[in-house]
Amino acid sequence: MPLQSRRTFLKHSPAALAAVSATTACGAESRVTGTDPVRPVVISTWQHGLAANAAAWKILDAGGSALDAAEAGVKVTEADPEVRTVGLGGRPDRDGIVTLDAAIMDGRGDCGSVAALRDILHPISVARRVMENTPHVMLVGEGARQFAETEGFTATELLTEASRTEWKAWREQNPNYRPPINVENHDTIGLLTLDRDGNIAAACTTSGAAYKYHGRVGDSPLIGAGLYADNAVGAATATGWGEAVIRACGSFLVVELMRQGHSPTEACRLAVERVIEKNPDYREIQVGFIALDKDGNTGGYCIHPDFDYAVYTPREGNRMVLPDSKL
Ligand code: ASP
Repeated sequence: MPLQSRRTFLKHSPAALAAVSATTACGAESRVTGTDPVRPVVISTWQHGLAANAAAWKILDAGGSALDAAEAGVKVTEADPEVRTVGLGGRPDRDGIVTLDAAIMDGRGDCGSVAALRDILHPISVARRVMENTPHVMLVGEGARQFAETEGFTATELLTEASRTEWKAWREQNPNYRPPINVENHDTIGLLTLDRDGNIAAACTTSGAAYKYHGRVGDSPLIGAGLYADNAVGAATATGWGEAVIRACGSFLVVELMRQGHSPTEACRLAVERVIEKNPDYREIQVGFIALDKDGNTGGYCIHPDFDYAVYTPREGNRMVLPDSKL
């Protein structure tokens, strides 16, 4: 959806408003004022986060773990061919090949990730197997695919007709073959969970920047850039131009700012300011962060105002939030 139209859609469309079970808040921060933490909580990036949140919530509401919920939530987005930035139906690289990046982390410090993975429908589950079944944190490319196969994952064609047609049109219009850098190039799902026991988890999965160089890896599978989780503090995840997020070690920065006492929204705002410092071309890119602290407070902030995220809490249900933005 083009810049601004998503926000307009969210504000004015009855269909969009019906899709959320409570009000859409603008620039809102969900902040616990009393001493009781809010649990469970799910927060995830973009409009497709509503469906992911619902799947994660099912697990959390039944007393399941933050980690299981985070994985189950983003799997919904990975399997949805209408989401053209994640998993099945994701836009390919400039050579027409879909390569996926994903990472998962639990608040005790365990983490796993895969990058430039081909032909596998659920890279987040492969990332979890890397975490649980290997002594490593990250596997990439052909090695990641081989590992997935030995773990029982079967090959799936990820390039849908819609994405193939769009890619062909892009290639014809771009004889110089340069991947686009622009504010539209985003929509990774990053999802954070807090379970009833106070455990936190984070998951992030994407097909990455559309029409990227073959082999390009963004922020999403990089622990500390695309996501970070620490039970002692909270968790954060990023979306947008991955190169800019990597330069600022974005998600780790958000968590460290919360550790210093900043609220989730303030931590996200300060991290965006850091991204801006490191990227003089920031007006040409989007970067957004969302964060969740150990007490169930949530927040987000972004460069361009086309960013939104979904929050599911016991009191307010599953709702979209339009965070404040730099521009
Ligand atoms: N952060 C992702 C990347 O750079 C893109 C996105 O958010 O869609 O790969």
